[in-house]
Amino acid sequence: MTTPTESTTAVTANATRVLVLNSGSSSVKYQLLDMRDNSRLAAGLVERIGEGTSRVVHSPLTAGGAGKRERIGAIADHSAALKAVAEELALDGLGLDSPQLAAIGHRVVHGGLRFTEPTVITDEVLAEVERLIPVAPLHNPANVTGIRTARALRPDLPQVAVFDTAFHATMPESAARYAIDVATADAHRIRRYGFHGTSHAYVSRRTAALLGKDPSEVNVIVLHLGNGASASAVAGGRCVETSMGLTPLEGLVMGTRSGDIDPAVTFHLKRVAGMSADEIDELLNKKSGLMGLCGDNDMREIRRRIDEGDERARLAFDIYIHRLKKYIGAYYAVLGRVDAIVFTAGVGENAAPVREAAVAGLEELGLAVDADLNAVRSGEPRLISPDHARVAVAVVPTDEELEIAQQTFALVAPEGV
Ligand code: AMP
Repeated sequence: MTTPTESTTAVTANATRVLVLNSGSSSVKYQLLDMRDNSRLAAGLVERIGEGTSRVVHSPLTAGGAGKRERIGAIADHSAALKAVAEELALDGLGLDSPQLAAIGHRVVHGGLRFTEPTVITDEVLAEVERLIPVAPLHNPANVTGIRTARALRPDLPQVAVFDTAFHATMPESAARYAIDVATADAHRIRRYGFHGTSHAYVSRRTAALLGKDPSEVNVIVLHLGNGASASAVAGGRCVETSMGLTPLEGLVMGTRSGDIDPAVTFHLKRVAGMSADEIDELLNKKSGLMGLCGDNDMREIRRRIDEGDERARLAFDIYIHRLKKYIGAYYAVLGRVDAIVFTAGVGENAAPVREAAVAGLEELGLAVDADLNAVRSGEPRLISPDHARVAVAVVPTDEELEIAQQTFALVAPEGV
C-alpha cells in the first residue's frame, strides 16, 4: 500500500461529491456522484479530442435537470476537454469550484507492482505512474495527462488514482509469473498484472451480496465480456487468477483483440510476412478478435448475421464461446469449489445467447441457465440459474464509476461522513 506524502485534509464534512474521470487517448468520460446515496448528478463524455469535430455530450441527472446537451467543435487537447467538462458542470450549478466536491477519482490502467490500492496522487505518485508507461503505452499516457490537467484546474483538491490492475495484485506468484527466464522478466517487469480490476472487484462483491453472503464466503468466476473481455477467479473476495496479462491482449477472444495465441505467431509474422513490431501490435490489438474473424466486433450485429445464416459470423461466435468455456473450466479447477459464475459488461449483461452457449453442456459441473430467466432484460443484478442449482449463474451490471468513486471517497472523506 502506498502512503500519500501530502496532506489530504482539504475535505470538509459537507463535501460529499466525487468527480470520476476516465481519460483515454482521444476521449474523456466523466461522472459526478454524491456519495451520501451514491446517486449520479451528471455524466458525459468528450470524444475525438484533437480533431476538428470533437464532441461533448453532457447529461445532467439531478431530479428535474434539463435534458442532454451536445456540442461539436474543435477541442485541441485534454486540458481543453477538461475545461469543457468544467463548463458543462458549472451550467448545472455543479462546477469544479463547488465546496461540495470532495475529490477527483481517476481511472489509471496500469499500477505495476507498486500500486495495489487506490492512492492519493502526489508529484511522486504521478512520476511513478509515468515510469509505468513502457508497460502500458496505450493507456497510461492519457491517464497521466488527465491527472495533470485536473490538478492544474483544482490544485487544492485531493485527487486519487484507482488502478485497473490493483484487484489482481493478490494473485499468487504461480499465476502471476510467466514461465520465462526470471532475470529477463524482472529486469523488464514482465509478469501478469490483469486489467478490468475495478469491475471484477465490484461485480464479485455484488454477486456475493446477491447470494446473501459475505465476499469472504464465496468463490466466484467473473466473466467481464465487453469490447475488451477478461475472466477472473475470485476466492473469498481475493483475486487468484485472471485472463489478461502484461497487457490487456492476453486471454479471451475480444472485440478486436486476439486474446491467447502461440507467441511464435509473432516471430512468424515478422520472419515470413515481413511485418514490423508495430504492425503486429496493430494486427493483434485492433484487427483481430471478432472483428478479425468476421468483420464485425458488435455482438448484436454478429447475432443478426447468424440469424440470417452467415457462416463467418457463426464461426466467430463459436470460437468466442469455445475460448470462454476453456476459461470457465480452467478457473473451476483453479478454485476447486465454485459458488457462482457471473456475467457482466456489454456482452455479458445483454447477450443471452452468449450466456446460454457458455454454460451449455456443463451440467456435470453443476452449471445451467434457466431459459426464461436468461431471456429477461433488466439493469438489476439477477440470478439466471434454475432454482436449487449447485452453482449460481448470475448477471450483474458492472459499475466501474461507482467503484472508483467509493474507493476515492473512502480515502479522502473525514471520519464519520
Ligand atoms: P462494453 O465494452 O462493456 O461497453 O461493451 C460493448 C459491447 O457490448 C459492444 O461492442 C457489443 O458487442 C456488446 N453489446 C452491447 N449491447 C448489446 C446487446 N444488446 N446485445 C448484445 N451485445 C451487446
